[in-house]
Amino acid sequence: MRLSEARHWVFDMDGTLTIAVHDFPAIRRALDIPPEDDILHHLAGLPATEAAAKRAWLLEHERELAYAAQPAPGAVELVRALCERGCRLGVLTRNAHELALVTLEAIGLGDCFASADILGRDEAPPKPHPGGLLHLAECWGVVPGELVMVGDYRFDLECARAAGAFSVLVNLPENPWPELSDGFARDCGVLRGMLGGL
Ligand SMILES: [Mg+2]
Repeated sequence: MRLSEARHWVFDMDGTLTIAVHDFPAIRRALDIPPEDDILHHLAGLPATEAAAKRAWLLEHERELAYAAQPAPGAVELVRALCERGCRLGVLTRNAHELALVTLEAIGLGDCFASADILGRDEAPPKPHPGGLLHLAECWGVVPGELVMVGDYRFDLECARAAGAFSVLVNLPENPWPELSDGFARDCGVLRGMLGGL
């Protein structure tokens, strides 16, 4: 795929469109989750009552972060440029849908994404599962190979790989996962520069 011609873009949210603020070790400590465990998978394996209480704590904790969200360098300009170009734009996040709406509004991108194209942890299986990307491709009437997935973590890249989408890593000084990424940019501003004419 030529990145400059891509018309279907899916973004991770936390740490990709926003400056990363989640303190995952602190969240694990607060919820008594072992350091090596995936938070969402761990919660999914708990008895229903305990899982519900811990999910509620997580939602409130993340709500505060959402209202205080700050855009990552170049992220607002990139998304706006793609939006003006008429691209289909989606978000695939392990955060909650309602908090994704709050976050996108807080960083000034509330009008760039259709609510149905913002998939949170209750709308799609958590990345690296490719289900969210496959769903968006189907909704948009394109093959997954037409999608670009932009993220800041291994899960985003693995998700793209599993779906057959084009993967772009951003917001790291260097690329620790070259085998998983089809593209790499230091931040979204650099990525916008790579697209030419935006
Ligand atoms: Mg992220």
